Amino acid sequence: MRYKSTRGGVSGLSFEDAVMMGLASDGGLLIPEKIPLFNEKDLKHLSELPYTKLAYEIMSRYQEGIPSQDLMNIIQKTYAKFDTVNMIPVRKAAGMRIAELYHGPTYSFKDVALQFLGNMFEYILTKRKQSLNIVGATSGDTGSAAIYGVKSKQNINIFMLYPSNRISNIQELQMTTTEASNVFCLEVGGNFDNCQSIVKEIFNDLEFKDEYSLGAVNSINFARILAQMVYYFWIYFRTVHRVGDEINVVVPTGNFGNVFAGYMAKRMGLPIAKLMIATNRNNILTRAVKFGDYSIERVHPTISPAMDIQVASNFERYLYYLYNEDSSKVVEAMDRLQTEKEIEIRGHLLGQLQRDFIAGETSDEDMKNTIRSVFSKSDYVIDPHTACAVYAAEQMELVSDNTVCLSTAHPAKFPEVIHEVLGVWPEMPSGLQNLEERQKRSERMNPDVEEIKNFIAKNAK
Ligand SMILES: *Cc1c(COP(=O)(O)O)cnc(C)c1O
Repeated sequence: MRYKSTRGGVSGLSFEDAVMMGLASDGGLLIPEKIPLFNEKDLKHLSELPYTKLAYEIMSRYQEGIPSQDLMNIIQKTYAKFDTVNMIPVRKAAGMRIAELYHGPTYSFKDVALQFLGNMFEYILTKRKQSLNIVGATSGDTGSAAIYGVKSKQNINIFMLYPSNRISNIQELQMTTTEASNVFCLEVGGNFDNCQSIVKEIFNDLEFKDEYSLGAVNSINFARILAQMVYYFWIYFRTVHRVGDEINVVVPTGNFGNVFAGYMAKRMGLPIAKLMIATNRNNILTRAVKFGDYSIERVHPTISPAMDIQVASNFERYLYYLYNEDSSKVVEAMDRLQTEKEIEIRGHLLGQLQRDFIAGETSDEDMKNTIRSVFSKSDYVIDPHTACAVYAAEQMELVSDNTVCLSTAHPAKFPEVIHEVLGVWPEMPSGLQNLEERQKRSERMNPDVEEIKNFIAKNAK
């Protein structure tokens, strides 16, 4: 399998090159040249496999360069870190199925992809005798998942900027208490936008970027999408009575990464009837599906902060397929998004978009009501992101045994909301216990590009 850019300027990359490139060098996103297909006989075979073997069967269709045993080792190492034998349990609650994607080391679904990406980076860098300095900014879950994905790896350092006093206590402790010497948490006096623009400026200094081999772990790396496709298959096999039956999947969405993996799984032959996008008040994707209006508004803070996003970077990958794999149309649309802050989707294209997805949004109040009602009906606690999926499914009358809501975070990551709504504190899983007692390690920095570059230069691999 070879990889190319949605914008047409890059092609013929191996999987390993695509992983190392991240964002395509023409500004587009990397996608496989073909989408592999599984027929019903293949699916029956896949349905009998444990998680790691299933992952291997799917991932090996997307790459050729990595020898089988090496790929299997990477997969096994990745998923040994999850705290259930069952990897992703599918439970019955709220009249539907809830797939708990959050049993990784940092208790959000981002671990599924970032643990894999970290191990993939390590493997490729070792083979190429290279090193990498990852620089990123976080307002929450991505930072800790990325840090756990690469901590203690030989050839990687990670520098994670976060805004002082603006992320939750648990999130800060998860990042700053790892004790790994290759992890540098930079507590910046400023807000998240300051952190993000500092990171952008650092990456724009191409000489600096080259000299210190800087890399990113943002959600556009194709390896992340690949790791996420696997669980759609896993969940499917645990929901249907017979391989061939259809399911609906409801996905809490911000950057469109998770739901795009579902779209790919469907294109690969997985019988998904309805694929639903659940957003919070930051509803750019809901507006796009309902009215063809993909226009950027300002970000509203909500109680499901991992979805407080206006530009859904991975949407470009879907646009490529919507425009019938015509890169020039993607370039045109992305230019328009840059200048006019909007893309309009009309006519038969809007019709296709509405056949591929349905969408709904949820207010903070409705998230809280949903957490309460699921608890009283099913004695089951969900986090605010998952609540968006459950609420959206109920609104669309999708409630049934064949509908799966993806649960993207452990409720214990949002103890204040759970306490406010249910009157009890959520039970802390082992990895979130006693964080306060551990030594916090972070560097206080001013929101100053030069100061931060100096720090990176001094501590780079
Ligand atoms: C990142 C995140 C999301 C959104 O996922 P995307 O792939 O960006 O759509 C949803 N829920 C939680 C808890 C997250 O951390």
